[in-house]
Amino acid sequence: MPRPILATIHAPALRHNLARVRAAAGDAKIWATVKADAYGHGIERVFDSLRAADGFALLDLKEAQRLRALDWRGPILLLEGCFEARDLELCSRLGLWHVVHCQEQIDMLSAHKTQLPQRVFLKMNSGMNRLGFAPERLRAAWTRLNALPQVDEISLMTHFGDADGPKGIAAQMAAFEAVTADLPGERSLANSAAVLRHGPALGQRSDWVRPGIALYGSAPDFPEHGTGHWQLKPTMSLSSRLIAVQDLQRGDTVGYGSQFTAEQPLRMGVVACGYADGYPRHCSTGTPVLVDGQRTRLLGRVSMDMLAVDLTPVPQAQIGSPITLWGQSAQGELLSIDEVAAAAGTVGYELMCALAPRVPVVIEADD
Ligand SMILES: *Cc1c(COP(=O)(O)O)cnc(C)c1O
Repeated sequence: MPRPILATIHAPALRHNLARVRAAAGDAKIWATVKADAYGHGIERVFDSLRAADGFALLDLKEAQRLRALDWRGPILLLEGCFEARDLELCSRLGLWHVVHCQEQIDMLSAHKTQLPQRVFLKMNSGMNRLGFAPERLRAAWTRLNALPQVDEISLMTHFGDADGPKGIAAQMAAFEAVTADLPGERSLANSAAVLRHGPALGQRSDWVRPGIALYGSAPDFPEHGTGHWQLKPTMSLSSRLIAVQDLQRGDTVGYGSQFTAEQPLRMGVVACGYADGYPRHCSTGTPVLVDGQRTRLLGRVSMDMLAVDLTPVPQAQIGSPITLWGQSAQGELLSIDEVAAAAGTVGYELMCALAPRVPVVIEADD
């Protein structure tokens, strides 16, 4: 028997979340963001469930090639644009649309030899200070692009840094609109947090939105809101089984560094899952875990291949009992990846992306 750890990708949940995001986005077209190999899910595994999107956004050219190999003929957007001149040849060959966020990318375009003008998304830095032209440089960049025979349609784009928090999107929105109001072309604003929290305000102003994390069933503004609030379903479950049971006496300790000490006799289970599977080592005693679909807690330090759980609330548990590290149990009980991530001081995004290659993955198909 193989080691019992397993990740399950839930195709019905991906479809459900896409429909939820679409409902929140009004008339905007949807870029399904599938960078980082579809947030750790695997592009090939999510493709069929997300093909109802209007396009796919990512940033790795190899991943763009994989989408074309799946016979996706619709739009693909490179979120960071081209990294070097020869990337433009691939854009021509595969019909990729790409972000232009700096002068160097315009220089590359102007030197590019092509019969086919390319669709570009000109990015403005509206305050996040990551990628994009400063407001006072945007119009000059647009004028330069517009004069290039290599460039077809120019769309306008920006990215919000505080859509998930109290600061919101108003200031960045105002900065973007002040500069772009009279420029033609489609607009692309909004990650998941902006779509879910500010959908109505974005409604008419964004032709394209770019949700990622919400498609994968994680709440972009956890803990203020959970997936229940946004009606999102987990798309990745990490499960395993108990491989040992220990009866601890008062004063016994658990694992490396003796980080947990039993204050009374306690039944403890050992789970075949550790940080080498992508479970965060930063999780400590108290992190929620499901045993047989029932909530209990992690005990002590996570090791490379194993972790320990308290079996007090699940007296029937024994070797072979099913464990849910995050996602959905066979009984239908949910443990949000956001809760586990929070216990490790991080976000659901990081846990999904860090699923280790050694974990086998299966797809739960549509009913
Ligand atoms: C990753 C990314 C998104 C998606 O963000 P989520 O928070 O996952 O919805 C959208 N736009 C850009 C430019 C990104 O890099």
